[in-house]
Amino acid sequence: MNYRGPQRVRVSQKPMPEIKHPEDAIVRVTRSCICGSDLHLYNGNVPDTRVGTTFGHEFIGIVEEIGPEVHKLKVGDHVIVPFNISCGKCHFCRQGLYGNCHESNPQATAVGGIFGYSHTAGGFDGGQAEFVRVPYANVGPTVIPPGMDPDDAVLLTDVVPTGYQAAEMGGIQPGDTVVVFGAGPVGIMAARCSWLFGAGRVIVIDQYEYRLEFVRNYAPCEAYNFREMDDPVVFIKKATDWMGADVVIDAVGAEAAGSPLQTITGRKTLIQAGSATALHWAINSVKKGGIVSIVGVYGPTDNLVPIGNVVNKGLTLRANQASVKRLLPRLIEHVQNGVLNPKAMITHRVPLEDAADAYRIFSDKLDNCIKPVLIP
Ligand code: NAD
Ligand code: ZN
Repeated sequence: MNYRGPQRVRVSQKPMPEIKHPEDAIVRVTRSCICGSDLHLYNGNVPDTRVGTTFGHEFIGIVEEIGPEVHKLKVGDHVIVPFNISCGKCHFCRQGLYGNCHESNPQATAVGGIFGYSHTAGGFDGGQAEFVRVPYANVGPTVIPPGMDPDDAVLLTDVVPTGYQAAEMGGIQPGDTVVVFGAGPVGIMAARCSWLFGAGRVIVIDQYEYRLEFVRNYAPCEAYNFREMDDPVVFIKKATDWMGADVVIDAVGAEAAGSPLQTITGRKTLIQAGSATALHWAINSVKKGGIVSIVGVYGPTDNLVPIGNVVNKGLTLRANQASVKRLLPRLIEHVQNGVLNPKAMITHRVPLEDAADAYRIFSDKLDNCIKPVLIP
């Protein structure tokens, strides 16, 4: 499944990936999801997305071949492959910042390597394919525990750790009111995980009734449609005795929908239409001294923070790509114990050859789609 240009993707034959480094493995993909992050690529909003790049950073598969220095895996293992490509040894990996690995993407100043995520993220081909080359195979890939449903396993590559880390970065204190913008798979998981950190109240905001209905039951939580509000910031202020939420999570990212007008301390302020609306709502609806946790993805040079309000309210902004490897052990346990049930979010199973249809359905939010999985 590879990129042809904005909103054009197609499945085509490419040469079989090869071991290029002694620590590489070749993995035969068994399941590969489409993510909200893929939509930034699909819409042509990630710099240096080259025609022919195979997308896909959320995949599991069977180890087909290993390089001579791979000792943690053997041929035939069925593995969860974190979306981040991490060397495990650099300054950042040693701190558990596996999403910021230096070695896997030394050209970049920000993000580490990511499968199928443009040359900005290292230019690696992704896993929406039959086979994929997995670098640093001793570091990221983790054998799927016996008995785990592959549909749960594939969501441990990204969505579960990202939602969990969104809640974790929020620094939620017992009893806190947490507001989550976005009821896509990431926001849904962030809402559910907020309870694990002791939230007292969880409110999700989105525009699609079917997603609001799902998260209401699944998290479970309150869920509201911003299309039915005059101003989501005022709505949240009202719902919190005019204090603002303790913690707000941005699980939307670039290309956010919503009104370009919003109220800031009673005055209408123009923000760029269709850009970072959720981030602005988040900053303006969190309480003074509160924390905004951002997992929504933005372009490397996006410059969209209303900094005056951040300073004057004394806010803490926390953000990152999820550090999948750091979180995997505890999240595998949560799935095994039934604390988290990620596979409930999978609404569509599509053969890999129909990936272009799946992209359109997921992008346009058709057919009550929450999470599509491609099956090679
Ligand atoms: P998705 O496209 O399924 O969901 C996004 C949701 O946001 C949609 O339901 C949409 O209606 C809603 N939305 C749009 N504008 C909004 C607004 N102004 N207010 C509230 N909701 C709004 O995507 P997803 O898979 O859930 O991913 C969500 C975001 O998380 C994306 O930006 C994605 O790139 C990012 N992401 C980050 C990481 C990470 O490691 N940081 C990992 C995975 C995904
Ligand atoms: Zn993803």
